[in-house]
Amino acid sequence: MTVTPDLVIRGGNIADGSGGELYEADVAISGGRITEVGKISGKGQEEIDAKGKLVAPGFVDVHTHYDGQVTWSQDITPSSQNGVTTAIMGNCGVGFAPCRPADHQRLIQLMEGVLARAGSIACSPSWRRYDSRTWPRCAIARRARRNRA
Ligand SMILES: [Zn+2]
Repeated sequence: MTVTPDLVIRGGNIADGSGGELYEADVAISGGRITEVGKISGKGQEEIDAKGKLVAPGFVDVHTHYDGQVTWSQDITPSSQNGVTTAIMGNCGVGFAPCRPADHQRLIQLMEGVLARAGSIACSPSWRRYDSRTWPRCAIARRARRNRA
């Protein structure tokens, strides 16, 4: 039985991460996973014409400063707009959590300087939840939300 792919990306130039030459092919995706690369005869539920475009795995951004932004934006732009599918955060030691309530204001000022977004941290409705008492609960809740998605 042939399964209709959720998505077929047609005719793109494949950069498969092996370091080899680019090659033109179709990519079938079902259930969030690549199921076939090559000439795909069946039609996908969704189709993307990638002729003349590069089709590549997502990039890993190993040094980001999204520690604060991730609390108010799940898109973490602009990295996600540029092909990044994995972003590593917290490697500069400017993470938000856990934070003692007495240190909230100092952390707000620090992060506003880093992000050049005055007021953005203080206005974020969620960040104050991340203190040393609530952080374990928030981390568990975030993990549970991700697993449901
Ligand atoms: Zn840094």
